[in-house]
Amino acid sequence: MRFRTLDDADLQGRRALVRVDFNVPMEDGRVTDDTRLRAAVPTIEKLRAGGAKVILLAHFDRPKGKWVPAMSLKPVVPALAKVLGYPVAFAEDCVGKDAAAAVAAMPPGDVVLFENVRFYPGEEANDPKFARALAENGDLYVNDAFSAAHRAHASTEGLAHLMPAYAGEQMRLELTALNRALGHPERPVIGIVGGSKVSTKLDLLKHLVTKLDKLAIGGGMANTFLYAQGHDVGASYCEKDLAETAREIIRLAGQNNCKLFLPLDVVVAEKMAPGAPARVRDSGSIDDDERILDAGPETVERLCRAMDNSKTLIWNGPLGVFEMPPFDKGTVAAARHAAELAKAGKLVAVAGGGDTVAALNAAGVSADFTFVSTAGGAFLEWMEGKALPGVAALAQ
Ligand code: ADP
Ligand code: MG
Repeated sequence: MRFRTLDDADLQGRRALVRVDFNVPMEDGRVTDDTRLRAAVPTIEKLRAGGAKVILLAHFDRPKGKWVPAMSLKPVVPALAKVLGYPVAFAEDCVGKDAAAAVAAMPPGDVVLFENVRFYPGEEANDPKFARALAENGDLYVNDAFSAAHRAHASTEGLAHLMPAYAGEQMRLELTALNRALGHPERPVIGIVGGSKVSTKLDLLKHLVTKLDKLAIGGGMANTFLYAQGHDVGASYCEKDLAETAREIIRLAGQNNCKLFLPLDVVVAEKMAPGAPARVRDSGSIDDDERILDAGPETVERLCRAMDNSKTLIWNGPLGVFEMPPFDKGTVAAARHAAELAKAGKLVAVAGGGDTVAALNAAGVSADFTFVSTAGGAFLEWMEGKALPGVAALAQ
């Protein structure tokens, strides 16, 4: 997909309406993690350098179209100013007089943050009237919030149709990385899908088997596949009613020449608890009281060799209950191997998903991956092959 970037934009003296994701973790009115603020810096700096007025639009939490003071974006201002190293103005409203006055008062190169766009019901409804009210304050639109791009809201989608629209720097980074992983990957491309449930990742599995050369299935969802193939999974988490669906995915993989890797061996315990006594078992010989909690060493070894023979990796979902050592071992070993290959330039390694990001961070390997997406829902919808409205609206 082709989209305009800020390199194509005429910025001097222009009012840039920039959609960012400032839905940051906050405690007692203080930002506790500024990752998302730092992600917006390259776009803000580029706009400032070009002589634009930088007007930031964002949502915070879920006020559901009502004015909820506890969900104001105001507490973000000091944290953003700290990240940027210069003052940031705040407008008490995102449309109307207060917003217009703030923009009129600022010289080019300055930055203002507007109040929570979700205080208006027109935001989530993508009401054209509300989009036009937002558009009053801009000459151009920049979307830098990939993580909100799966929603067709006024500030993520509607605005893009009302003025020249550009992908911000973070958006560009994310789209480029995702395109390298699944859009136009260097082959062979291998996927790892884990996590607890097949039911939450049906669309994702069905789409991936049509795109990938190899797919390793791990985590709790692999139990459902083992069960579907006639294996006894003991007391493991298993969605037995999805056995036929699992068989359908196995068939789809065959039709699409996607080689499926199901666990050869697994780590089991009688209790799902940190430090529970663990044993390695053949995936075909699980006792009634045993629970599968991680991938076994042979399975991980085979996965690492498959990565060695691939050029691209796309990963969502941990291979085991990584929150409870020793059941993090399989995920950590596979993550370290992927990171080493990526660092050596032998593998494009892209990963995403809430728990996946936490697992890779816990393994200490995120920085060595080619790209780790923190976009959550948008990342998963993209992996399902769905068009993201916020991205589609930027297409040229
Ligand atoms: P993500 O957030 O990255 O998309 P998921 O939410 O799908 O990942 O899955 C993560 C969860 O899956 C973790 O909480 C992990 O403990 C759980 N999980 C992984 N393997 C198993 C297993 N064998 N049995 C039960 N739960 C598992
Ligand atoms: Mg999760």
